[in-house]
Amino acid sequence: MPLSKSPLTLALATTTALTGAAAAWADGHSKELNLYSSRHYDTDERLYSDFTESTGIKINRIEGKADELIARMQAEGRNSPADILLTVDTSRLERAKNAGVLQSIDSAVLEEKIPANLQDDDNQWFGFSQRARIIFYDKTDVSAPPADYVSLADPKYKGLVCHRSSSNVYSQTLLAAIIENHGAKAAKAWAQGMVDNFARDPEGGDTDQLRGIVSGECDISVANTYYFARALRREVKGLSDDMEDIGWIFPAQDAEGAHMNLSGGGVAANAPNRKNAIAFLEYLASDKAQEYFSAGNDEFPAVPGVEVSESVAKLGQFKADEVNLSAVAKNVPEAQKIFNEVGWK
Ligand code: FE
Repeated sequence: MPLSKSPLTLALATTTALTGAAAAWADGHSKELNLYSSRHYDTDERLYSDFTESTGIKINRIEGKADELIARMQAEGRNSPADILLTVDTSRLERAKNAGVLQSIDSAVLEEKIPANLQDDDNQWFGFSQRARIIFYDKTDVSAPPADYVSLADPKYKGLVCHRSSSNVYSQTLLAAIIENHGAKAAKAWAQGMVDNFARDPEGGDTDQLRGIVSGECDISVANTYYFARALRREVKGLSDDMEDIGWIFPAQDAEGAHMNLSGGGVAANAPNRKNAIAFLEYLASDKAQEYFSAGNDEFPAVPGVEVSESVAKLGQFKADEVNLSAVAKNVPEAQKIFNEVGWK
């Protein structure tokens, strides 16, 4: 649905008038929160209704693609009704920060609950859930699967590897993390080796990489765990019937650990309902919301000690890479340069 046709847009048109003194008044008294979200999961609905139930704060939601939401917030400028931007991936959170659409906040709750490596250095964005970006392979064709990301580029896997395009944020953040963990030179050699090993030109989303393994187009790929857990839990077209042939590896368990893809958000730069916005982020860090990220969308809670759902637990225990994601985010331009240099489409 195009954003301009959304009924929520109409509801928000009145909120847009809340500027200056009116916005200051609203910050103290308003019972509303304007949420811009690019999380594309139906299950998030319950996160919002639980927040409304416990606080009385009504959520007006605008959903769209992350880059469109960021551009919209920029275009709206000081009159933007946006209170919160929720999105996925460290690269995107950093993009929002660099676009000037977020603001720094002080929250003792978030400082205490969200691990330091999952927060922006300037407190402009915070991670609330994670997904491990791991290696999947065809058990019937691959007897010795790669044990880490670097090995995916080993010439012995030539013609076997499927991967997403370099324009995708998951790809960008993974390479940015490899730069952080192994240095730019090793990262470039890895990217070149990956291109040499591709079974097909990079295409499709994470689920398509898994479908590529099922269809036999490739034998090895990389995807976020929640797509796989979802297919284990319920029917996913072209996937669920042949799941038993797909094996998975949590990479780099003897080294840095599995790369974690972050989902998070921050308070909008011109949030008219700033207090409500901070209350909402603090709610996302609560045990109840954290459990729901796992139960509703097969993610890993960002807050340590919160239990994962049954379908996520089925994937097994593993060591997560705890690299500082704020540092990783700063490597994204370098990652993009490497992608261009090695011709990763
Ligand atoms: Fe995703």
